[in-house]
Amino acid sequence: MEILKERIIKDGVAIGTEILKVDSFLNHQIDVVLLSQIGAEFARIFENCGVTKILTIEASGIPIACFAAVHFGNVPVVFAKKAAPSTMTEEFYGAEVKSFTKGTVSVARISKKYLSPEDRVLIVDDFLAHGEAAFGLASLVKQAGAQLVGVGAVIEKQFQGGGKKLTEADVRVESLAVIKSIKDGNIEFA
Ligand code: 5GP
Repeated sequence: MEILKERIIKDGVAIGTEILKVDSFLNHQIDVVLLSQIGAEFARIFENCGVTKILTIEASGIPIACFAAVHFGNVPVVFAKKAAPSTMTEEFYGAEVKSFTKGTVSVARISKKYLSPEDRVLIVDDFLAHGEAAFGLASLVKQAGAQLVGVGAVIEKQFQGGGKKLTEADVRVESLAVIKSIKDGNIEFA
């Protein structure tokens, strides 16, 4: 997605060779026009896949999923929680997810009420790095007996291998901007 790549070049900040900071439009302040375009692009790519629900993980995936959902005809968004709030009294599906940026391990949880075997689920997230979050979310879909349509990532860091691992596991991966390397502050796209 050209407009996204241009924005990454303009406003993205490389932190070392592993991390990209896009706080000014995606992860802290949100450019809603760009997010709407991103949502429309996911809807175009996954058109005719019969998506009934969009699944993501808190926090940065939520706005992306919500904008996408509107372009999929207002399908519901379900977001996995990283902690068990006292309000989560019902049964839930859970999967361990290691956070790449925080170095912590948490259990991504969703209430059993919000995914069912009839669902055709699209997973979306801001970044695809090592694939931890996506594999965790895919596990929740599997536990529910639902159908995984694919994974949509706004930015994939190809060199961290998550996309390849998912593809090898027969998961359809569609990333709107694919980064090949980050070196000396330069971002090279695939
Ligand atoms: P993975 O689980 O694929 O290893 O990493 C993806 C998750 O880690 C995403 O949910 C995202 O929030 C976070 N993440 C991974 N790499 C980056 C990065 O370069 N920048 C930011 N802001 N978040 C990242």
